[in-house]
Amino acid sequence: MKQQLDQSSEMTMDIFEKISGHEQVVFCNDPSTGLQAIIAIHNTTLGPALGGTRMYPYASLDDALDDVLRLSEGMTYKCAAADIDFGGGKGVIIGDPKTDKTSALFRAYGQFVDSLNGRFYTGTDMGTTMDDFVQAAKETHFINGIPVEFGGGGDSSVPTAQGVIYGLKSTAQYLFGDETLSGKTYAIQGLGKVGYKVGQQLLEMGANLVVTDINKDAIAAIQAQAEVHTGNVTVVESDDIYHVDADVFIPCAMGGILNDETIDQLKVRAIVGSANNQLKTEHHAKLLHEKGILYAPDYIVNSGGLIQVADELYGANKARVLMKTKAIYQSILEIYKQSELDAITTLEAANRKCQQRLEEQRGRNNFYRRQRSPKWIFKNEV
Ligand code: NAD
Repeated sequence: MKQQLDQSSEMTMDIFEKISGHEQVVFCNDPSTGLQAIIAIHNTTLGPALGGTRMYPYASLDDALDDVLRLSEGMTYKCAAADIDFGGGKGVIIGDPKTDKTSALFRAYGQFVDSLNGRFYTGTDMGTTMDDFVQAAKETHFINGIPVEFGGGGDSSVPTAQGVIYGLKSTAQYLFGDETLSGKTYAIQGLGKVGYKVGQQLLEMGANLVVTDINKDAIAAIQAQAEVHTGNVTVVESDDIYHVDADVFIPCAMGGILNDETIDQLKVRAIVGSANNQLKTEHHAKLLHEKGILYAPDYIVNSGGLIQVADELYGANKARVLMKTKAIYQSILEIYKQSELDAITTLEAANRKCQQRLEEQRGRNNFYRRQRSPKWIFKNEV
């Protein structure tokens, strides 16, 4: 018995060590629907936790826990950088999105979200769709990113793409003293929901594109746009995108693409894209800095979608979201200037800015943050 107790207390210590940077971690178990999920609330200094819920067939519980802890911490920074009054959280559902989804499973998940009483707001992420969260929203109000017909803001790739355009403009302003995007060459990796919209707007402005995508239809769609606008489109193979001669590289596909191998090949002046976690490690921000390539931190460039889901609390309004997304321009510009002033990487400058915002707010808010109703927000904003 003694041995068992010792073991269990060691295990408890391990778990607490593992989650020591987090406020709360909730394990959700519903045998009747097969739901096994983890919700991690990293930090609610700025407001209730906000973050999507991912569905993935994790190989182990440890993998799922590591993922949700890492992703929820990232959300604290994303919210702080976007200057929205939410904290960092994330959910993961353990299961295969192709075979394990049922409406009952998402309704059960909605009930767990509801039990947190507004400490955690969630919506789609990898492996989950707006339809899944229409089911979850039958059980709780604390869902965002649902279709317009259900009171949500709809497709978040529109403000995300707009944010990338603002990031490109502030980069042009900083590098060339003029925010005009026309007449320059942009290398786009990935022409999906975000990359296509960015490419289309750049072509409209008369820019030239070098593009790659593993999906032929995506390539055909952007080529069709080139026919009606003045800009040109050149298509290259996947791995060739890293060494094209372009002014700016726009990663809009997968993460980890800025690494030892690719940074060596880059010939661009700057990197401004929507893909999450572009840097393989923080060390790669240093490598880019040393090479004189300006890196716009991804979590700021791609925050348009987050701005939209946070804004849903006021009632969906696309025009207001696009107006708020404009802040990305100034934010990126300030980070470039701070990085130059302090001789630090742009990533360090961005992280410092977020930490500063958290520090300023700490102490003003209750640690154990609860539901934020629209009324609450309006009351506090006036
Ligand atoms: P998407 O799935 O619609 O598009 C991704 C595109 O990349 C697809 O066309 C795909 O074929 C292509 N692709 C995949 N692997 C590739 C490869 N090896 N080489 C070239 N192309 C490849 O996704 P999206 O919504 O456009 O998002 C793009 C990126 O931006 C993702 O990293 C996503 O996490 C991030 N992001 C998106 C949003 C949003 O609102 N959609 C918000 C924040 C961040």
